[in-house]
Amino acid sequence: MPKLAIHGGPPAKTKPFPVWPIFDEREREALKEVLESRVWWRTPGTKTLAFEQEFASYHQAKHGIAVTNGTHALEVALAALGIGAGAEVIVPNATFVATASAALFAGALPVLVDVSADSYCIDPELAEAAITENTKAIIAVHMGGRPADLDQLTAVAEKHGIALLEDAAHAHGSEWRGRKVGAFGIGGTFSFQASKTMTAGEGGMIISDDDDFERLARSTHDCGRLPGRWFYDHFVYGSNYRLSEWQGAVLLAQLTRLDEQTARRHANGRLLDRLLSELPGITPQSHDSRITRNGQYAYIFHYDKRAFASVPTDRFVEALEAEGIPTQAPYPPLHKLDLFTSGAYRDRLSGAQARANHEFLNDAFPNSQREAWETVWITQNALLGDEEDMGEIAAAIRKIGENARDLL
Ligand SMILES: *Cc1c(COP(=O)(O)O)cnc(C)c1O
Repeated sequence: MPKLAIHGGPPAKTKPFPVWPIFDEREREALKEVLESRVWWRTPGTKTLAFEQEFASYHQAKHGIAVTNGTHALEVALAALGIGAGAEVIVPNATFVATASAALFAGALPVLVDVSADSYCIDPELAEAAITENTKAIIAVHMGGRPADLDQLTAVAEKHGIALLEDAAHAHGSEWRGRKVGAFGIGGTFSFQASKTMTAGEGGMIISDDDDFERLARSTHDCGRLPGRWFYDHFVYGSNYRLSEWQGAVLLAQLTRLDEQTARRHANGRLLDRLLSELPGITPQSHDSRITRNGQYAYIFHYDKRAFASVPTDRFVEALEAEGIPTQAPYPPLHKLDLFTSGAYRDRLSGAQARANHEFLNDAFPNSQREAWETVWITQNALLGDEEDMGEIAAAIRKIGENARDLL
């Protein structure tokens, strides 16, 4: 009799997890209202405007600028910081490509540094060591919703007079010392792409407390215009990164559930920390008492194959999926992407920087490699389940551990 579901046995998970995305009459009504109003674009609209204000205020920030997606949010933020040719931007080597490609889009060099071994967030000491006279900013990613060390990162940025930008694409509603992430440094960016913890299919947001940064970012996202000025006056170089009213309306509705959903994911995440810590070979992403809420874009744990009869991570993941636990792929380390190994990234650079030897690309990046090849990511919808669901996740992993030899 096969025990593992991958071999035809009964799956450990019997009750289905909540499906994502979640919607109800609130989204339906909001879309109908936009439709019938005949105001479908942002400029004369009210929905995206209201969403900017409510999202920023929920994140304890003064300003919000809604944009087309999270990648554009990074691009607009870097433009508003005046980052361009010759500049260097320090980014973690373990992240989605957008964190680095936004710097390239600006004509600047993304300098890749390793993450910490157990948080998978940028290592503040390595970030500081990578600062040169050309460094203009550090972008921190709150990996899986777990805030990076914002105490150390804000101190490093202040000491060296550079900007700290938070790529909070995973961290809607996450908190550090009781304060929502996103405006600890000059500002933060969010994504509302389909997998994120609030979604309109696509969408993005920049938040900030800084009036000058806000003015430039807002102008950049709207063809260089300024609010209240004539429509055909253009003050800076910009483009069209505006979010539509459809998305603003859906996101306003999604925001009404964010607090309850992040509270649930955080609580389930801490329950999983306790349950999974008891399993041999499993080490949850590190928590930190300064993290008062983790929005849990994903639940990340380290998998040590030595406790699983040397079954490789991808085989373990297949077995876990078969048991009914949904997962998503971790990020490959950026320095291994064709973009960097082929040298194609140099096409975005100019002058001496385009020809320089970018020594950091030869680093070993051990912790990014650990993140890429030895972690397992459970998708956020699973964390919207109840305590029984968390128990079933732990039971599925335990079951695979006890039958690991069958996977060889
Ligand atoms: C999703 C994501 C982005 C980009 O967001 P899009 O809306 O997909 O453009 C940027 N950074 C990180 C870390 C992300 O996960």
